Amino acid sequence: MKTEVVPIQQIHEPLFEEKAVSLFVKREDLNHPTISGNKFRKLKYNLAEAKRLGHKQLLTFGGAYSNHIYATAAAANAYGFESIGVIRGEETLPLNPTLAFAKSMGMEFIYLDRASYRLKNEEKVKNTLHNKFGDFYLIPEGGTNQLAIKGCKEIVKDLDQEYDYYCLAVGTGGTISGVISGLNGKRQVLGFTSLKGNFLEGEVGQLLLEYCDNRYSNWSINTDYHFGGYAKVKPELIDFMKDFEARHNILLDPVYTGKSMFGVYQLIHNGYFPEGSRILFIHTGGLQGRKGYNLK
Ligand SMILES: *Cc1c(COP(=O)(O)O)cnc(C)c1O
Repeated sequence: MKTEVVPIQQIHEPLFEEKAVSLFVKREDLNHPTISGNKFRKLKYNLAEAKRLGHKQLLTFGGAYSNHIYATAAAANAYGFESIGVIRGEETLPLNPTLAFAKSMGMEFIYLDRASYRLKNEEKVKNTLHNKFGDFYLIPEGGTNQLAIKGCKEIVKDLDQEYDYYCLAVGTGGTISGVISGLNGKRQVLGFTSLKGNFLEGEVGQLLLEYCDNRYSNWSINTDYHFGGYAKVKPELIDFMKDFEARHNILLDPVYTGKSMFGVYQLIHNGYFPEGSRILFIHTGGLQGRKGYNLK
Protein backbone atom coordinates (compact mmCIF):
# COMPACT_ATOMS: atom_id res chain seq x y z
CA MET A 1 0.00 0.00 0.00
CA LYS A 2 1.59 3.23 -1.09
CA THR A 3 0.95 6.44 0.79
CA GLU A 4 0.62 9.73 -0.99
CA VAL A 5 2.75 12.57 0.28
CA VAL A 6 0.15 14.81 1.88
CA PRO A 7 0.30 18.60 2.18
CA ILE A 8 0.77 20.51 5.41
CA GLN A 9 -1.35 23.65 5.43
CA GLN A 10 -0.98 26.63 7.69
CA ILE A 11 -4.18 28.00 9.21
CA HIS A 12 -4.36 31.75 9.71
CA GLU A 13 -6.52 33.34 12.38
CA PRO A 14 -6.41 36.68 14.19
CA LEU A 15 -6.60 34.64 17.42
CA PHE A 16 -3.34 32.87 16.59
CA GLU A 17 -1.58 36.18 15.95
CA GLU A 18 -2.87 37.56 19.20
CA LYS A 19 -1.56 34.50 21.07
CA ALA A 20 1.64 34.31 18.98
CA VAL A 21 1.22 30.66 18.01
CA SER A 22 1.07 29.01 14.61
CA LEU A 23 -1.15 26.13 13.58
CA PHE A 24 -0.54 23.70 10.72
CA VAL A 25 -2.70 20.82 9.50
CA LYS A 26 -1.22 17.62 8.14
CA ARG A 27 -3.79 16.46 5.60
CA GLU A 28 -3.83 12.73 6.25
CA ASP A 29 -7.44 12.92 5.06
CA LEU A 30 -5.93 13.18 1.56
CA ASN A 31 -3.64 10.14 1.77
CA HIS A 32 -5.99 7.83 -0.14
CA PRO A 33 -9.29 8.47 -1.98
CA THR A 34 -11.30 5.74 -0.19
CA ILE A 35 -9.22 4.17 2.57
CA SER A 36 -8.21 7.62 3.82
CA GLY A 37 -6.75 9.02 6.99
CA ASN A 38 -5.36 7.12 9.93
CA LYS A 39 -7.30 4.00 8.93
CA PHE A 40 -5.07 3.70 5.87
CA ARG A 41 -2.00 3.89 8.13
CA LYS A 42 -3.44 1.33 10.51
CA LEU A 43 -4.31 -1.15 7.78
CA LYS A 44 -1.10 -0.91 5.77
CA TYR A 45 1.04 -3.46 7.63
CA ASN A 46 -1.95 -5.59 8.58
CA LEU A 47 -2.73 -6.17 4.93
CA ALA A 48 0.89 -6.99 4.20
CA GLU A 49 0.83 -9.49 7.08
CA ALA A 50 -2.46 -11.04 5.92
CA LYS A 51 -0.96 -11.48 2.47
CA ARG A 52 2.26 -12.93 3.87
CA LEU A 53 0.26 -15.48 5.87
CA GLY A 54 -1.72 -16.42 2.78
CA HIS A 55 -5.13 -15.26 4.01
CA LYS A 56 -7.90 -14.63 1.52
CA GLN A 57 -10.36 -12.94 3.86
CA LEU A 58 -10.20 -10.07 6.32
CA LEU A 59 -12.65 -9.94 9.20
CA THR A 60 -13.19 -6.97 11.46
CA PHE A 61 -15.67 -5.33 13.83
CA GLY A 62 -17.39 -1.98 14.05
CA GLY A 63 -20.50 0.12 14.47
CA ALA A 64 -22.82 0.82 11.55
CA TYR A 65 -21.15 4.22 10.84
CA SER A 66 -17.60 3.10 11.51
CA ASN A 67 -14.75 4.69 9.53
CA HIS A 68 -12.81 1.51 10.15
CA ILE A 69 -15.46 -0.71 8.52
CA TYR A 70 -15.58 1.66 5.56
CA ALA A 71 -11.79 1.72 5.18
CA THR A 72 -11.34 -2.02 5.65
CA ALA A 73 -13.92 -2.78 2.96
CA ALA A 74 -12.17 -0.39 0.57
CA ALA A 75 -8.71 -1.73 1.39
CA ALA A 76 -9.81 -5.34 0.98
CA ASN A 77 -11.30 -4.49 -2.39
CA ALA A 78 -8.21 -2.60 -3.56
CA TYR A 79 -5.75 -5.29 -2.45
CA GLY A 80 -7.58 -8.45 -3.48
CA PHE A 81 -9.09 -9.71 -0.22
CA GLU A 82 -12.63 -10.71 0.62
CA SER A 83 -13.97 -8.91 3.66
CA ILE A 84 -16.40 -9.61 6.48
CA GLY A 85 -17.75 -6.90 8.74
CA VAL A 86 -19.11 -7.89 12.14
CA ILE A 87 -21.52 -5.05 12.83
CA ARG A 88 -22.78 -3.98 16.27
CA GLY A 89 -26.57 -3.95 16.57
CA GLU A 90 -29.49 -4.91 14.36
CA GLU A 91 -29.54 -4.80 10.60
CA THR A 92 -31.42 -1.71 9.35
CA LEU A 93 -32.57 -1.42 5.78
CA PRO A 94 -31.97 0.37 3.58
CA LEU A 95 -28.30 0.25 4.53
CA ASN A 96 -26.86 3.56 5.72
CA PRO A 97 -24.26 5.22 3.45
CA THR A 98 -21.30 3.66 5.32
CA LEU A 99 -22.57 0.10 5.02
CA ALA A 100 -23.91 0.63 1.51
CA PHE A 101 -20.41 1.66 0.47
CA ALA A 102 -18.81 -1.28 2.29
CA LYS A 103 -21.24 -3.63 0.59
CA SER A 104 -20.42 -2.11 -2.80
CA MET A 105 -16.77 -2.98 -2.02
CA GLY A 106 -17.85 -6.59 -1.55
CA MET A 107 -18.02 -6.70 2.24
CA GLU A 108 -20.28 -9.32 3.75
CA PHE A 109 -21.98 -8.46 7.05
CA ILE A 110 -22.95 -10.31 10.15
CA TYR A 111 -24.83 -8.47 12.88
CA LEU A 112 -24.32 -9.03 16.59
CA ASP A 113 -26.66 -7.66 19.24
CA ARG A 114 -24.97 -5.35 21.71
CA ALA A 115 -24.54 -7.99 24.42
CA SER A 116 -22.89 -10.50 22.08
CA TYR A 117 -20.84 -7.76 20.47
CA ARG A 118 -19.30 -6.95 23.85
CA LEU A 119 -17.98 -10.53 23.98
CA LYS A 120 -16.43 -10.32 20.51
CA ASN A 121 -12.86 -10.80 21.74
CA GLU A 122 -13.66 -14.09 23.46
CA GLU A 123 -12.52 -17.36 21.95
CA LYS A 124 -16.08 -18.68 21.81
CA VAL A 125 -17.22 -15.86 19.51
CA LYS A 126 -14.11 -16.20 17.36
CA ASN A 127 -14.73 -19.93 17.02
CA THR A 128 -18.32 -19.32 15.94
CA LEU A 129 -17.05 -16.89 13.31
CA HIS A 130 -14.45 -19.37 12.08
CA ASN A 131 -17.10 -22.08 11.85
CA LYS A 132 -19.23 -19.79 9.74
CA PHE A 133 -16.59 -18.14 7.54
CA GLY A 134 -13.60 -20.46 7.63
CA ASP A 135 -10.13 -18.98 7.70
CA PHE A 136 -9.66 -15.20 8.04
CA TYR A 137 -7.18 -12.56 9.16
CA LEU A 138 -8.69 -10.80 12.14
CA ILE A 139 -8.32 -7.06 12.53
CA PRO A 140 -9.60 -5.77 15.90
CA GLU A 141 -12.32 -3.13 16.28
CA GLY A 142 -10.99 0.27 15.27
CA GLY A 143 -8.02 -1.47 13.67
CA THR A 144 -5.69 -1.03 16.63
CA ASN A 145 -2.91 -3.58 17.10
CA GLN A 146 0.87 -3.56 17.03
CA LEU A 147 1.04 -3.45 13.22
CA ALA A 148 -1.35 -0.48 13.23
CA ILE A 149 1.01 1.38 15.55
CA LYS A 150 3.88 0.61 13.20
CA GLY A 151 1.88 2.13 10.33
CA CYS A 152 0.89 5.24 12.30
CA LYS A 153 4.50 5.88 13.24
CA GLU A 154 4.95 6.87 9.60
CA ILE A 155 2.60 9.85 10.04
CA VAL A 156 5.46 11.74 11.68
CA LYS A 157 8.26 10.29 9.58
CA ASP A 158 9.97 12.55 7.06
CA LEU A 159 8.36 15.80 8.16
CA ASP A 160 10.26 18.73 6.65
CA GLN A 161 9.95 20.80 9.77
CA GLU A 162 9.68 20.27 13.49
CA TYR A 163 6.74 21.27 15.60
CA ASP A 164 6.43 21.84 19.33
CA TYR A 165 3.05 20.16 19.68
CA TYR A 166 1.42 17.33 17.75
CA CYS A 167 -2.35 17.30 18.25
CA LEU A 168 -4.81 14.64 17.12
CA ALA A 169 -8.10 12.89 17.80
CA VAL A 170 -8.10 9.71 19.87
CA GLY A 171 -10.50 6.76 19.75
CA THR A 172 -8.83 3.48 20.71
CA GLY A 173 -5.38 5.06 21.04
CA GLY A 174 -3.57 3.22 18.25
CA THR A 175 -2.85 6.29 16.16
CA ILE A 176 -1.51 8.42 19.00
CA SER A 177 0.67 5.51 20.13
CA GLY A 178 2.24 5.43 16.67
CA VAL A 179 2.82 9.18 16.69
CA ILE A 180 4.37 9.07 20.17
CA SER A 181 6.70 6.22 19.30
CA GLY A 182 7.60 7.91 16.01
CA LEU A 183 8.70 11.05 17.85
CA ASN A 184 10.74 8.93 20.24
CA GLY A 185 10.43 11.20 23.27
CA LYS A 186 10.77 14.51 21.46
CA ARG A 187 8.24 17.38 21.63
CA GLN A 188 4.74 17.12 23.05
CA VAL A 189 1.85 15.01 21.81
CA LEU A 190 -1.64 16.05 22.79
CA GLY A 191 -4.59 13.76 22.12
CA PHE A 192 -8.25 14.71 22.34
CA THR A 193 -10.58 11.88 23.14
CA SER A 194 -13.96 11.57 21.45
CA LEU A 195 -15.11 9.14 24.13
CA LYS A 196 -16.18 9.78 27.69
CA GLY A 197 -13.94 8.48 30.43
CA ASN A 198 -10.34 8.51 31.62
CA PHE A 199 -9.28 5.02 30.62
CA LEU A 200 -7.28 6.02 27.55
CA GLU A 201 -4.07 7.15 29.24
CA GLY A 202 -3.74 3.69 30.72
CA GLU A 203 -4.53 2.05 27.44
CA VAL A 204 -2.10 4.14 25.40
CA GLY A 205 0.60 3.51 28.03
CA GLN A 206 -0.02 -0.20 27.68
CA LEU A 207 0.05 -0.12 23.86
CA LEU A 208 3.34 1.79 23.96
CA LEU A 209 4.90 -0.63 26.44
CA GLU A 210 4.00 -3.56 24.24
CA TYR A 211 5.15 -1.83 21.09
CA CYS A 212 8.44 -0.28 22.13
CA ASP A 213 8.93 -1.12 25.78
CA ASN A 214 8.72 2.56 26.68
CA ARG A 215 5.71 4.50 27.92
CA TYR A 216 7.29 7.87 27.19
CA SER A 217 6.12 10.91 29.14
CA ASN A 218 5.87 13.66 26.50
CA TRP A 219 2.15 13.15 25.88
CA SER A 220 -1.25 13.57 27.45
CA ILE A 221 -4.89 13.02 26.58
CA ASN A 222 -7.38 15.81 27.00
CA THR A 223 -10.87 14.61 27.92
CA ASP A 224 -12.69 17.98 27.87
CA TYR A 225 -14.01 17.94 24.30
CA HIS A 226 -16.02 14.73 23.85
CA PHE A 227 -19.31 16.71 23.57
CA GLY A 228 -21.34 14.13 25.44
CA GLY A 229 -19.52 11.02 24.23
CA TYR A 230 -18.76 8.95 21.18
CA ALA A 231 -20.78 10.00 18.11
CA LYS A 232 -22.65 12.66 20.16
CA VAL A 233 -22.66 16.23 18.91
CA LYS A 234 -23.80 19.64 20.17
CA PRO A 235 -24.86 22.69 18.15
CA GLU A 236 -21.73 24.62 19.16
CA LEU A 237 -19.58 21.85 17.69
CA ILE A 238 -21.46 21.84 14.38
CA ASP A 239 -21.35 25.67 14.25
CA PHE A 240 -17.61 25.61 14.86
CA MET A 241 -17.08 23.02 12.11
CA LYS A 242 -19.15 24.93 9.57
CA ASP A 243 -17.35 28.16 10.33
CA PHE A 244 -13.91 26.48 10.16
CA GLU A 245 -14.74 24.75 6.88
CA ALA A 246 -16.07 27.90 5.26
CA ARG A 247 -13.01 29.95 6.16
CA HIS A 248 -10.23 27.41 5.64
CA ASN A 249 -11.64 25.07 3.04
CA ILE A 250 -10.80 21.94 5.06
CA LEU A 251 -13.63 19.58 5.98
CA LEU A 252 -13.80 18.06 9.45
CA ASP A 253 -15.86 15.14 10.76
CA PRO A 254 -18.18 15.39 13.75
CA VAL A 255 -16.93 12.26 15.55
CA TYR A 256 -13.19 12.92 15.72
CA THR A 257 -11.49 15.78 13.91
CA GLY A 258 -14.22 18.36 14.57
CA LYS A 259 -13.99 17.78 18.31
CA SER A 260 -10.21 17.76 18.44
CA MET A 261 -9.89 20.90 16.29
CA PHE A 262 -12.44 22.59 18.57
CA GLY A 263 -10.23 21.56 21.49
CA VAL A 264 -7.09 22.98 19.87
CA TYR A 265 -8.83 26.32 19.24
CA GLN A 266 -10.09 26.42 22.81
CA LEU A 267 -6.67 25.68 24.27
CA ILE A 268 -5.10 28.36 22.08
CA HIS A 269 -7.78 30.76 23.29
CA ASN A 270 -7.03 29.78 26.90
CA GLY A 271 -3.31 30.45 26.46
CA TYR A 272 -2.36 26.80 26.96
CA PHE A 273 0.41 26.91 24.33
CA PRO A 274 3.40 29.16 25.14
CA GLU A 275 4.12 32.09 22.80
CA GLY A 276 6.03 31.04 19.72
CA SER A 277 4.59 27.49 19.74
CA ARG A 278 4.29 25.70 16.44
CA ILE A 279 1.38 23.29 16.56
CA LEU A 280 0.76 20.48 14.07
CA PHE A 281 -2.79 19.16 13.92
CA ILE A 282 -2.95 15.72 12.31
CA HIS A 283 -6.15 15.48 10.26
CA THR A 284 -6.99 11.80 10.69
CA GLY A 285 -9.72 11.74 8.02
CA GLY A 286 -13.11 10.19 8.75
CA LEU A 287 -15.01 12.44 6.35
CA GLN A 288 -17.31 9.62 5.23
CA GLY A 289 -18.89 9.92 8.70
CA ARG A 290 -20.32 13.35 7.83
CA LYS A 291 -23.15 11.70 5.91
CA GLY A 292 -24.71 10.43 9.11
CA TYR A 293 -25.03 14.04 10.30
CA ASN A 294 -26.46 15.63 7.18
CA LEU A 295 -23.17 17.40 6.56
CA LYS A 296 -22.49 17.23 2.84
C1 LIG B 1 -10.66 5.97 14.00
C2 LIG B 1 -10.38 7.43 13.99
C3 LIG B 1 -9.65 8.07 15.01
C4 LIG B 1 -9.19 7.33 16.24
O1 LIG B 1 -8.05 6.57 16.00
P1 LIG B 1 -7.52 5.56 17.12
O2 LIG B 1 -6.31 4.97 16.53
O3 LIG B 1 -8.61 4.55 17.33
O4 LIG B 1 -7.27 6.34 18.36
C5 LIG B 1 -9.39 9.42 14.89
N1 LIG B 1 -9.84 10.12 13.83
C6 LIG B 1 -10.56 9.55 12.85
C7 LIG B 1 -11.04 10.40 11.75
C8 LIG B 1 -10.85 8.19 12.88
O5 LIG B 1 -11.57 7.64 11.90
